[in-house]
Amino acid sequence: MPPARPADAPAGLADRFGRRATDMRLSLTDKCNLRCTYCMPAEGLEWLSRQAVMSADEIVRIVRVGVDLLGVRELRLTGGEPLVRADLVDIIAALRSNHPDLPISMTTNGVGLDKKAVALKASGLTRINVSLDSLHEETFTQLTRRPFLDRVLAGVDAAWAAGLGPVKLNAVLMRGINDAESPTLLAWALDRGYELRFIEQMPLDADHGWTRRNMITAAEIRSLLSVDYVLSPDPRARDGAPAERFEVRRRVAGSGAGAAGAGPADGPVLGTVGIIASVTEPFCADCRRTRITAEGKIMSCLFSREEFDLLGLLREGASDEALAERWQDAMWVKPKAHGMDHTGLGAADFVQPDRSMSAIGG
Ligand code: SAM
Ligand code: SF4
Repeated sequence: MPPARPADAPAGLADRFGRRATDMRLSLTDKCNLRCTYCMPAEGLEWLSRQAVMSADEIVRIVRVGVDLLGVRELRLTGGEPLVRADLVDIIAALRSNHPDLPISMTTNGVGLDKKAVALKASGLTRINVSLDSLHEETFTQLTRRPFLDRVLAGVDAAWAAGLGPVKLNAVLMRGINDAESPTLLAWALDRGYELRFIEQMPLDADHGWTRRNMITAAEIRSLLSVDYVLSPDPRARDGAPAERFEVRRRVAGSGAGAAGAGPADGPVLGTVGIIASVTEPFCADCRRTRITAEGKIMSCLFSREEFDLLGLLREGASDEALAERWQDAMWVKPKAHGMDHTGLGAADFVQPDRSMSAIGG
């Protein structure tokens, strides 16, 4: 049983290991219109009832407690798919009106974004991340189990045109499916000025099909990209960001530069690429995230097995201070690390959480 938070614990969302969460990921819904193989089963999941999911007013109140009482400095809206929420624009407008300077970003699969990008910008959304794993119709459909590539591409372009940049693209690589496409995805993103980030596949799929041996590691991603490009560490501070960023230059034949550094003959910086190596190069020691699921549960880590009910307390009529205290208690017991890099290698200390990524809020 982890120790209770002591009376002299630091202010804000502190934990036992000296970290403080300032980056809030809030899930607006567990529903989604895609069925990505690394996230959802083909048949979907049993969706939460409307009553179980946080209302717009409840979301606005929880964010206010996080920002005003607990030092949250950045908000990311996620899901499930945030765009399926009919009141999305109203929620963002209310959040913006309470917090004029808060960076508010959103992670989306991009389906329907072309129709909503302008309204999202007008409501006060700062920036957007779109998930895009392939530029080939067939591969995209195989990965997401839906033939919506054109709609996603239209969404990405509309987001950029609406001023929701810098547009970041998230790609999960799956062995034998889209891993060989990684340099093409990077070229496409660089061409358009989008920042591509590759995310190592984590054991958060509802089908429990993940294996450590089969996932594409950050080292493999760097090596796949290094055939055409030279990657050098981005000199800007990482500052708690999950992605390790690299400056990208085109590799010039015979330049002799290694995988992690540019040589004198390599060309100018074309842009950056990020790699989120949650499995093989975990960044738990610098983690600044706190998560709220669509039904208002606090999760201190994607891999927490313990959840704390914030929405239930709110619905019982709790004060802002009581909500803040429950949140602080939940974060105090945040695990030191997730330990998933041992999975499948014989160690028994990692158990895949019951919730899949869509039900947590990635
Ligand atoms: N539906 C939206 C989307 O796909 O962008 C937002 C929610 S989704 C859960 C957030 C991010 O989690 C996406 O970029 C997705 O690729 C990523 N994701 C989902 N399952 C994952 C897994 N098993 N491992 C790594 N990333 C995953
Ligand atoms: Fe839906 Fe996003 Fe999960 Fe894909 S990754 S199934 S788009 S929630």
